[in-house]
Amino acid sequence: MTDYMEITEAFHQARTAPDVTDRATGLEEADRIGGVALVQARLQGQGAEFCIDCDEAIPAKRRAAAPWAERCISCQDDHDKREGRRHG
Ligand SMILES: [Zn+2]
Repeated sequence: MTDYMEITEAFHQARTAPDVTDRATGLEEADRIGGVALVQARLQGQGAEFCIDCDEAIPAKRRAAAPWAERCISCQDDHDKREGRRHG
């Protein structure tokens, strides 16, 4: 979980920076590394680095857009279709 540690550290440094400019720069950096949503999702124990269905790595882009995602796009699609059947 190197990514996670890196993000956590970046946010910690940003929050504790004595200078407001450093803080802003640090937050920008932290945001660039992982994104606030991803960090929050990780802290809440949501989302997954690997698809829970096929074990493929979930692309960083997808995780950034949907930090709660537990499946890769193709498995999520299949899952949605299966779930969708309940509604006809
Ligand atoms: Zn998958």
